[in-house]
Amino acid sequence: MFASLSDRLTATFRSLRGKGRLTEDDINTTVAEIRRALLEADVALPVVREFTAAVRERALSAEVSAALNPGQQIVKIVNAELVEILGGQARDLHFAKRPPTVILLAGLQGAGKTTLAGKLGKWLRDQGHTPLLVASDLQRPNAVTQLQVVGERAGVPVWAPEPGNGVGDPVEVARSGLAHARDKQYSVVVVDTAGRLGVDAELMAQAANIRDAVDPDEILFVLDAMIGQDAVTTAQAFADGVGFTGVVLSKLDGDARGGAALSVAKVTGQPVLFASTGEKLTDFERFHADRMASRILD
Ligand code: GDP
Repeated sequence: MFASLSDRLTATFRSLRGKGRLTEDDINTTVAEIRRALLEADVALPVVREFTAAVRERALSAEVSAALNPGQQIVKIVNAELVEILGGQARDLHFAKRPPTVILLAGLQGAGKTTLAGKLGKWLRDQGHTPLLVASDLQRPNAVTQLQVVGERAGVPVWAPEPGNGVGDPVEVARSGLAHARDKQYSVVVVDTAGRLGVDAELMAQAANIRDAVDPDEILFVLDAMIGQDAVTTAQAFADGVGFTGVVLSKLDGDARGGAALSVAKVTGQPVLFASTGEKLTDFERFHADRMASRILD
C-alpha cells in the first residue's frame, strides 16, 4: 500500500527511465489512478472527467524531463492544474474605494455562515478595519442571538433587528445596518443571511433582495467541505440565484479531502478565498491552493 497518489504514481513509473515521451498506455494507467484519487476525494464526476482529459492531453504532449521520472512529472502537472483551478494564490478581498465595504454571506443552513461572520469580523479587526456584523438571518431561531454571542467574542459590534429597524424584515435590517455603518463610519459591513438545509427558492430570492438593497463589494458563498458530491448543485444554485464573488470553505478540520472545493471552483470559476478549520474564532485563514491540492492528491 502506498500512502498517497504521488507515491502510487511514482511507483507505477519506477521502472521507466527519463527518456522520450510517455507512452499512451503509461498515461492511461496514470490517468486512471488520478481519476480514482479525485473520486475518493469527492470531486464531482463531470469535473473529474474534464480534469483528467486535460491532464491526459498535457501529459501526451509533455517532454519527459531528465530530472523527474514520468510519474513525478504527471503529479507535477496534476498539481499545477489543481492549484490553478482552486484560484492560485488567494486574492485579497475587494475593498470599496469609499467605505464601508459590504460583504454578504450566503450558503446553506449549517454551512458555517454565522461562525464565519465572527471569524471574518475578528480577522478584519486584527487588520485595522472597523467591522460591523449585521444579523439578516431571521429564519433560524437563535441566529440573531448566535451572531451577537459570536460578535461579542470577536469584539465586533452587531446590528440586530429591533423595533424601528426592521423586525421581521431581513432586507430592512440589512439596509438600516448599512445606513448605521455609514453614519458611524464603520469601514466594513458583514451581512449574515438565512439559508435552508436544501436550496430554497424563497430564501434565495430573499438573499438576492438583500444583495440589491446593500450592493455588496463581495458575496462570499460559504460551503461545508463535508458536503461532498452535493457541492456542485448547491454552488450552482447559489451562483444562479444570488451570484457570488468568492468561496469560503468551512469545516476543513473534518476528514473531508476537499474535493468539494475543486468542484465548486471549477464549475463556478470563482476562487476559494478563505478556509475555516474549526469552531473557534481563530480557526480561520487565507486559503492555500497548494495545500489543498496536496490534500486532494494525498
Ligand atoms: P450557519 O447556519 O451557516 O450560520 O452555520 P453556523 O455558523 O451556525 O455553523 C453550523 C455549525 O457548524 C455550528 O455548530 C458551528 O460551530 C459549526 N462550524 C462552523 N464552522 C466550522 C468549522 O470550520 N469547523 C467545524 N468543525 N465546525 C464548524
